[in-house]
Amino acid sequence: MSSYFLRTLREDPADAEVASHKLLVRAGYIRRVAPGVYSWLPLGLRVLRKIEQVVREEMDASGAQEVLFPALLPREPYEKTNRWEEYGPNLFRLQDRKGGDYLLAPTHEEMFTLLVKDLYSSYKDLPLSLYQIQTKYRDEARPRAGLIRGREFVMKDAYSFDLADSGLDDSYAVMRAAYSRIFERLGLEVAICRAMAGPMGGSRSEEFLHPCAIGEDTFVRSAGGYSANAEAVKTVVPDSLPIEGQPLPQDYPTPGAKTIASLVEMANEIAPREDRPWEAGDTLKNVMVTLTWAGGEREVICVGIPGDREIDMKRLEASVSPAEVEMASPEDLARHPELVPGYIGPQVLGPNSPNRSVDDNGEPIGSVRYLLDPRVVDGTRWITGGNKDGVHTFNMVKGRDFEADGTIEAAEIRVGDPAPDGSGPLELARGIEVGHIFQLGRKYAQALDLKVLDENGKAQVVTMGSYGIGISRVLAALAEQNCDDKGLKWPLGLAPYDIHILATGKDQEVFEKAEELTTELSASYDVLYDDRLKVSAGVKFADSELLGMPFVLVVGRGLKDGKVEIRNRQTGEKREVEVASAVSELTTMINDSRKA
Ligand code: ATP
Ligand code: MG
Repeated sequence: MSSYFLRTLREDPADAEVASHKLLVRAGYIRRVAPGVYSWLPLGLRVLRKIEQVVREEMDASGAQEVLFPALLPREPYEKTNRWEEYGPNLFRLQDRKGGDYLLAPTHEEMFTLLVKDLYSSYKDLPLSLYQIQTKYRDEARPRAGLIRGREFVMKDAYSFDLADSGLDDSYAVMRAAYSRIFERLGLEVAICRAMAGPMGGSRSEEFLHPCAIGEDTFVRSAGGYSANAEAVKTVVPDSLPIEGQPLPQDYPTPGAKTIASLVEMANEIAPREDRPWEAGDTLKNVMVTLTWAGGEREVICVGIPGDREIDMKRLEASVSPAEVEMASPEDLARHPELVPGYIGPQVLGPNSPNRSVDDNGEPIGSVRYLLDPRVVDGTRWITGGNKDGVHTFNMVKGRDFEADGTIEAAEIRVGDPAPDGSGPLELARGIEVGHIFQLGRKYAQALDLKVLDENGKAQVVTMGSYGIGISRVLAALAEQNCDDKGLKWPLGLAPYDIHILATGKDQEVFEKAEELTTELSASYDVLYDDRLKVSAGVKFADSELLGMPFVLVVGRGLKDGKVEIRNRQTGEKREVEVASAVSELTTMINDSRKA
């Protein structure tokens, strides 16, 4: 360590909020260059390489073959798939000296597709899986948490190529199994969550989320083993209720009932239900949002959800994708004078609107499209806006008094909601997306004309899968999972070094012994030796805790009695042993820890 390229810091970096970010900088693993852009120092690079190696071994074992593309790519292929535009401001675009457009690749579907098209032409060449471990660039709006959301980051991306859909299913299953082995070997807990397939098309899509309080993704899980991204959860639709015999709609003045709570309170005073008190979940909240379609066309729609729930913007976004969504502005609403802000009811919406008309394609125009939460089934009875200032309509029964243009998954998921597969109530958790596998289908192959000849000599479009792991994000997630207030605590196998030997004090003999042990242990292990002469024992201990090697061997004062100390950073165990048996003791401890 006297010559190692390392400076540890006592202070947290000013911009760091999460433990992994603070510790990786303080322990000298990474240095910030620009927002979301980091340099790798020797310690950090060693961990990065070890993670890559685990991923590489499992990719190779799964039959995928490693290639490496440039990060600097020409515009044309991305033009063909529309992503030069679609990627929006997240794409780093640049020009060469001749004015040619280039980009720094955010992901590589296009290049893999073109490479296979370049070289392969027969069904006999398939199936094929290729991967690379490479630097990606995304101009993220909010780079955060150090390596967790970078603008430059390391990703393993793999792609499978098959002729038939069933082949894609098989390739997908092989990758999925490889991912499970990777995260198991890395000791990183993951929940495999169903995700939205999204505008990319394709069918199956799953995210590997590491459950963690600082994660940006919300996911749900049930005791019965269901787990999904919040966006992908389908609401369990209750049975319809009988309409017959339900009281008829009636308008009531509700002055001052500005919130759901005050509306419910007033409702129970002025028009109590015959069976039970009104609840927030009996009110129907109609939320106006504006969609912007790819051509720039804006459409105001109304989303109706039970009043005891909020809109979940991410779920709403996923439901209306590829349209962009925002809350309707006063200007948007001004174009629909039938809507009375705060008192919007179904009577003026969608199919219920008297001035509803359809265009040539049968699409509704003239009235605002009305999409309902799937819980609003026929026979359910609601308090809704009365479309007059200060008025609500009670006893609006779906299927009798109003209809909708369809349903939409836009309401938040709540703890206790039933899992769609009947596996019990849902709980909510936060997670970091460390991997994502999905069936792309034929979208890219179609756009880039990747076809092979089938058994009958007929050209067929190939179907593809895409499989990513955020290698540098995994490193941060591992640091987050393996740390305490003193520093990092790497598991064996991923730590930059297996053993950290500290020579403490000033005794010449101590340094000689420590060096001897370093040499001996280096034959079997990666060893870091703290041989710094004028550094106090206290600083050496603190540094070793900060750096986080799994085993620490302290050669110090005890040596004159023939003793050294072994510390296990993960378990906190300390053991004084005879110097003569130090190597065998350590070997046993390391073997035990490997087995566990
Ligand atoms: P996110 O939703 O977190 O933005 P994504 O869904 O856009 O990620 P993918 O395109 O699926 O990401 O990329 C594959 C993997 O690359 C992700 O699962 C994640 O682990 C990693 N990754 C994506 N963006 C970043 C980033 N900005 N910094 C670090 N790793 C990232
Ligand atoms: Mg993803």
